[in-house]
Amino acid sequence: MSAASIALFTSDLRVHDNPVLHAAAQGTGGVVPLFVLDDGVRAAGFDVPNRRAFLADCLADLDDALRARGGRLVIRSGDVVERTAEAAAEAGARDVHVAGGVSGYAHRREERLRRVLEADGRRLHVHDAVITALAPGEVTPAGRDHFAVFTPYFRRWQAARHRDVLRAPRRVRVPEAVGSGPVPRRHAVSGVSPGLATGGEVAGRRRVTAWLGSPLRHYAQGQDDLAGDATSRLSPHLHFGTLSAVELVGRAREAGGDGAEAFVRQLAWRDFHHQVLAARPAAAHADYRTRHDLWRRDEQEAEAWRTGRTGYPIVDAAMRQLVHEGWMHNRARLLTASFLTKTLYLDWRLGAAHFLSLLVDGDLANNQLNWQWAAGTGTDTRPNRVLNPLAQAKRFDADGSYVRRWVPELADVPGLEGGAVHQPWKLRPAAARAALAYPEPLIDLGDGLARFKQARGLD
Ligand code: FAD
Repeated sequence: MSAASIALFTSDLRVHDNPVLHAAAQGTGGVVPLFVLDDGVRAAGFDVPNRRAFLADCLADLDDALRARGGRLVIRSGDVVERTAEAAAEAGARDVHVAGGVSGYAHRREERLRRVLEADGRRLHVHDAVITALAPGEVTPAGRDHFAVFTPYFRRWQAARHRDVLRAPRRVRVPEAVGSGPVPRRHAVSGVSPGLATGGEVAGRRRVTAWLGSPLRHYAQGQDDLAGDATSRLSPHLHFGTLSAVELVGRAREAGGDGAEAFVRQLAWRDFHHQVLAARPAAAHADYRTRHDLWRRDEQEAEAWRTGRTGYPIVDAAMRQLVHEGWMHNRARLLTASFLTKTLYLDWRLGAAHFLSLLVDGDLANNQLNWQWAAGTGTDTRPNRVLNPLAQAKRFDADGSYVRRWVPELADVPGLEGGAVHQPWKLRPAAARAALAYPEPLIDLGDGLARFKQARGLD
């Protein structure tokens, strides 16, 4: 009989199409499916209530899936490298399998794991295309280590061969001697957004099946309709790896049509940002392309933005959706990020940190690089474009339904019917306007634009 292997789960909390679990389950010596509640993630401030609650769902679900196959999930907490080395020693494991990550933290974890395991005579196997559809570095432009512009990346990404989808193992045998801490439970987490989605592979797969059924067909037309809410909401499942990006791309391509094409393109954006961060880990906190910004500092304005009290209903609706659901529509993310960085001219890092404190799909690659895109310090080829919140509201929430859903104090005001809700400052008579429990605009849009242009030397 061969020695046991360890499948160290990170952002790949699934049994279907998981190269890490698949490889570890090949031998006859058994497998230790291990998840470490990592002190390092906690210390980095990444362990926030919404993601902790979703993670608890994912772990409970993964434990169920492994039990259905004769195994169980082994939970440890502490330093991920130490706990993995301990589990490997207990199981007498020779091989440890893990997914390749893209952040600086993941790179350091991998290096430490390799060093510590090799010192004990064990081997670390890092698997590609577990977290993304195409591994970072799999396609590169001539003479460079990554693509800095999406369109040429997308061309190569589409033409590339994606790996085959793997079946879930039929049986998982876990050595009895290896003990586990308790599987965390969602109800034990406090401070969770009331509308937070349910985690876990079962929930993720159910959502995909429903999504590929009919909504996908309308995605190309409906993806920017704020009130329509016609996107997949698969982002938390992709973030925690309860869904495989490879499998999802394959299934969407099979479904075919305009909607599938547009959807697959968004999945390629995810890979694009991952390959940027893998090549430039510092982009998590430093400008990818500096514009020499001297950002303003104004805590009151930042707080008005965070709490949805800017006086621009479309911005405020979005910021309140984030607090309520731990999720926000992509169009809303774009316009709130543009408002913070270009209209208020406040540092993108401040906005990115707020998003990460609440987003259930909060992801270093997607969040930081989308923030940099919106701020014009990232990969946008038009870095100085400013999204006017009123123009955005007219295009993407023409009848004001999205604002009415999230800003109740504007929902039933005579005079603010339909699209008029986007400009409450126009309400007449003055007494009616004064009676609104809603703030005046924080800033005049023209003033904001002039200040931004001056700061970027565009005059
Ligand atoms: P769909 O429209 O159904 O798209 C399908 C999938 O494609 C998404 O689940 C996601 O994995 C991927 N995707 C879609 N748009 C993008 C994009 N612009 N960049 C990268 N991947 C994309 N996404 C995150 O997963 N985590 C984040 O922390 C995050 N922060 C963001 C911050 C800002 C300022 C902006 C502008 C965007 C951010 N995004 C982030 C990207 C995008 O907004 C979300 O992925 C999307 O809204 C999730 O909803 P959905 O699953 O319904 O997306």
